[in-house]
Amino acid sequence: MSITYSDFRSDTVTRPTEKMRRAMAEAVVGDDVLGDDPTVQELERLAAGIMGKEAALFCPSGTMANSIAVKMWTSALEEVIVEERSHIYNMESTHMTFISGVTPRPVRSVRGAMDPKDVAAAVRRPNVHTPRTSLVCLENTHNNWGGAVVPLENFRGIRRVAEANGLKVHLDGARIFNASVASGVPVRDFADQVDSLQFCLSKGLSAPVGSMLAGPRERIEFGRRLRKAFGGGMRQAGVLAAPGLIALTEMVDRLKDDHARARRLAAAISGLPGVRLDPAEVETDIVIFGFEHPRLGVDDMLARMKEKGILALAVPGGIRLVTHKDVGDEDIDRAIRAFREILA
Ligand SMILES: *Cc1c(COP(=O)(O)O)cnc(C)c1O
Repeated sequence: MSITYSDFRSDTVTRPTEKMRRAMAEAVVGDDVLGDDPTVQELERLAAGIMGKEAALFCPSGTMANSIAVKMWTSALEEVIVEERSHIYNMESTHMTFISGVTPRPVRSVRGAMDPKDVAAAVRRPNVHTPRTSLVCLENTHNNWGGAVVPLENFRGIRRVAEANGLKVHLDGARIFNASVASGVPVRDFADQVDSLQFCLSKGLSAPVGSMLAGPRERIEFGRRLRKAFGGGMRQAGVLAAPGLIALTEMVDRLKDDHARARRLAAAISGLPGVRLDPAEVETDIVIFGFEHPRLGVDDMLARMKEKGILALAVPGGIRLVTHKDVGDEDIDRAIRAFREILA
């Protein structure tokens, strides 16, 4: 007997909608490396417009978009200020050193928001011994801080430090639409505080592939050359851009449903034995909790959940579940039942 799983591992597991699949089949395409795929161009214009930037670039992944951003804003012998739990620092296979030849300088934070004073203190006074600081990277929502929304006011504070020290600011906005929906702050307001940002079409917005990198036209055109050098030039990419257009125009509002479901799940499991979770800290679609149970380790717990049809992922010291389009209220009920049965 085969079991159907409720897949809470990530919002990246979302399947394209029927409408997206039709748009893929019908997409008008050209060769985007030669600059004539109209659907990719439409997506790049739309993304730039939404973010209030001059230009945008369609990238195969968020990791590539972040890699291009770091490379386009830095030179060798430089340093980049990053938040210590950030994706760009911990989860992207060291592209800062590997591709850009720059060192990351991790700074602590409270739920993803670095104190602007700590950022200022991390800026190097360059001399023959030390790297020159050239870039600050922000992340919103903050993945490893359980989908926390970094407040706009914090962006403003860090922007002031960056301007005072001649630094650029890049936002890893993989889930910037989640931040916007949860806080009521338009994405554009976050984007206004940074020089460039990337955001993912392939997470809660449910497109199959792709991220957008937005910024000043001249840097984005340089980024286009970097994308080619990284092997990310795509030919009839309109078939991938077409669902991206639907992601941006039709899939943003529904993120609030993911957030409500994550809150309901968090509230229901927070009192159970072994679960270390403050439901008030669940702001968006990610539920991360510490797990310390007298009989079950994290791997045992994940295996028991899997037997009951619930897929989740281990994180350091705990477990992560993410809500998204393809887990509905029944899946939340099923997960809550599984938790109660296992931990009863
Ligand atoms: C998923 C993610 C990325 C990278 O996206 P990929 O498309 O998986 O390479 C970057 N930053 C954050 C915060 C993410 O969650």
